[in-house]
Amino acid sequence: MKIKEIHIYSHDLPVKNGPYTMANAKVWSLKTTLARLVGEDGTEGWGETCPVGPTYAESHASGALAALIEMAPGLVGSEVWPLSLQRKMDSLLNGHNYAKAAIDMAAHDLIGKKLGLSVAQLLGGVATDKVPSYYATGVGTPDDIARIAREKMEEGYPRLQVKVGGRPVEVDIEVVRKVWDVIKGSGMRLAVDANRGWTTRDALRISRECPDVPFIMEQPCNTIEDLQKIRPQVHHGIYMDENSINLSTVITAVGTGLVDGFGMKVTRIGGLHNFATFRDICAARNLPHTCDDAWGGDILAAACVQAGATIAPKLCEGVWIAAPYIEGNYDSKNGIRIEGGHIALPKGPGLGVTPDAGIFGNPVASF
Ligand SMILES: [Mg+2]
Repeated sequence: MKIKEIHIYSHDLPVKNGPYTMANAKVWSLKTTLARLVGEDGTEGWGETCPVGPTYAESHASGALAALIEMAPGLVGSEVWPLSLQRKMDSLLNGHNYAKAAIDMAAHDLIGKKLGLSVAQLLGGVATDKVPSYYATGVGTPDDIARIAREKMEEGYPRLQVKVGGRPVEVDIEVVRKVWDVIKGSGMRLAVDANRGWTTRDALRISRECPDVPFIMEQPCNTIEDLQKIRPQVHHGIYMDENSINLSTVITAVGTGLVDGFGMKVTRIGGLHNFATFRDICAARNLPHTCDDAWGGDILAAACVQAGATIAPKLCEGVWIAAPYIEGNYDSKNGIRIEGGHIALPKGPGLGVTPDAGIFGNPVASF
């Protein structure tokens, strides 16, 4: 099956009750980029990539658009199968995983819709038809975050991720303490995500001062070298998120025992094909991980749920989607929703969602 047409769209996703605040970024609205592939027989597939602003990772919305426009002419006429498509994209553009992910996702959707199989089946098989999610707070005051922790615990979320960093570490310590007072004994797991925002000094201090709170530290500091420095000195598990920019880095982090798990983004690793490889590397070393993306609408959310449903449940730390922070759905009928802290695997073929025609307006570019 060859790709006959590629259409690229740009769409605004305002942040509900914005801004959303992280250690190094505040976002009010995100520009998401979508790719629609049309196969030789007219079957269509959708993909999406949506960096959460220009400072969260080494990616940004205009970069995604430019990279897709750079590759697309060379992809028309190419085989749609994910491995050959990945090689073709690599032959056209070095790097830019997050843009390639939109094409990879659309290819999986198209193949699934053509064969009548879900993307989870294409990725190896469904381990669960309902994936756990987790709630990510923004950076906030200790009282506000403790209140959100209670709300989300009562809604049924099995895990809470608290954003910290970008302020005196004493406040972060107070947040961790207050949240733990609320969720202790409930079974809710706790991740503390500094989004690269702590110095190694801050990370060591919070671990030293909260030895009784069983949280994992997600991407506490900026570089891999920082993680290597704190690794032998902290009491807490370390998960890598932003630093795990490709499979090579993942292999090194896993192979050297640098981390206890990952926060993983489907687009950062280059799409669903690479995500399946990542999943299997983690399984070989019994490492838990999430299956997320940084932001995005129904297409990206569906991709995360489909991939998340293939992770061995004991290693799945949850599927985070941006739904609580954005208004509406692309697919008004089958759009991805969180209920009781969990997300049902969509039932249809491919990604299981089909965007309502017209939401994205005219394509920015067509090939
Ligand atoms: Mg993270």
